[in-house]
Amino acid sequence: MYLIGLTGGIASGKSTVAKRLAALGAVGIDADQLAREVVEPGTPGLAAIVAEFGNDILLAEGSLNRAALGTVIFADQTRRERLNAITHPAVRQLTRDRVAAAGAADPHAIVVYDVPLLAQAVAGGLVTFDLIVVVHAGAGTRIQRMVDLRGLTREEATQRISAQASDADRLALADVVIDNTGTVDATLAQVDALWERVRTAEAHANRVSNDIRSPLSEL
Ligand code: ATP
Repeated sequence: MYLIGLTGGIASGKSTVAKRLAALGAVGIDADQLAREVVEPGTPGLAAIVAEFGNDILLAEGSLNRAALGTVIFADQTRRERLNAITHPAVRQLTRDRVAAAGAADPHAIVVYDVPLLAQAVAGGLVTFDLIVVVHAGAGTRIQRMVDLRGLTREEATQRISAQASDADRLALADVVIDNTGTVDATLAQVDALWERVRTAEAHANRVSNDIRSPLSEL
């Protein structure tokens, strides 16, 4: 198995890259999706959240009312930490389970873990990545895409970017940088080239050598 950690700032193009890799044959694991799964109705995660925050954070049909929970934890760090203490271990366990299952199903699987908070996953020793791929587009481009394609105001988009790790911090982790400042086609061509190299690396059971580092990763 070959495990790729895929990250990038908000609206950098992670999903665009992950989708292409999946179409090429990668097994995709989406950290945001796992975070939703651990609080689905019937999970120990949701039960623990109700025990901590009360029934008011449930919708009528019994699923998590994210907006209500968001309001509760937004201004209260202690409560935010309580929520994280419930959800984070559950997400970590599910991540390990899914990665292990992918490897068990196909020892030659190329697994792509799409994780916005990759630095934390690395620092916490969650899993060992064979390759870290950062999707990069400058803040101006990402703000414009959020305004044009997601209906955010410029201020909202800027705020979301400011709330995240800096580009420099993310790029410092990168083995490979996908430059998504150009057209989608230009990005997909980079992904296709990456896929070929990763497949070769997996076949030789070697790490991808440093010579595929993009010049952008030196930023
Ligand atoms: P998020 O952080 O919100 O999960 P993301 O990093 O997964 O976002 P995408 O959803 O892939 O980013 O891309 C953000 C938006 O920009 C999408 O609407 C996507 O269609 C669009 N987009 C991605 N790449 C390009 C590109 N090269 N040119 C124009 N639009 C793009």
